[in-house]
Amino acid sequence: MARITGPVCRLCRRDGLKLFLKGTRCDTPKCAIERRDSAPGMHQFRRGKQTDYGLHLREKQKVKHYYGVLERQFRGYFQRASRSKGNTGNTLMSLLERRLDNVVHRLGFGASRAQARQLVAHGHITVNGRRCDIPSYIVVAGDVVRVKNRVGSLQMVQGNLTENRRLVPEFLSLDAGAIPEGRVVRLPEANDISIPIQTQLIIELCSQ
Ligand code: SF4
Repeated sequence: MARITGPVCRLCRRDGLKLFLKGTRCDTPKCAIERRDSAPGMHQFRRGKQTDYGLHLREKQKVKHYYGVLERQFRGYFQRASRSKGNTGNTLMSLLERRLDNVVHRLGFGASRAQARQLVAHGHITVNGRRCDIPSYIVVAGDVVRVKNRVGSLQMVQGNLTENRRLVPEFLSLDAGAIPEGRVVRLPEANDISIPIQTQLIIELCSQ
């Protein structure tokens, strides 16, 4: 299971955008981009004007970094979106938003997408009552995402739910009871996407 490793704050600084990759730290003054809002590296101030290709590439990289997917997997999502009916950009973002690790994060079960991914991969999450340890599992409307009824799993998730008072998006509903669970009310739409992105630039780049 390939994933992004290495210092993630550099990714935010490179993309010039808060990608919220470090959980609670992202909302504190310790956030790297708030302290140093410049590209990482030695020659950050010597870089020339951004090219048109660079502009398109940056947009794609932002999405990949935000959802924690690598190039090959991203291409798969793009191909699936371009084959579907409707707006390719919206479908692409909807697919990424429907990843199980993203849903777990947006429900507040995991402090960051990386932690949510680990919760899924380590078997702390069930979908419709069955264990699902595939972070890239795509949820559908009506799916119920629940924390496993196990002391360790419940303690971890309840700790995160108390610490992170994140707004749950409208396409999900949360029941933060003794065994926290979330329901996919409907498929995510353009206004549910949590990252400001110009999907047109991604489509132009990936269609070449
Ligand atoms: Fe990005 Fe979070 Fe690091 Fe800030 S603390 S730069 S938002 S990963």
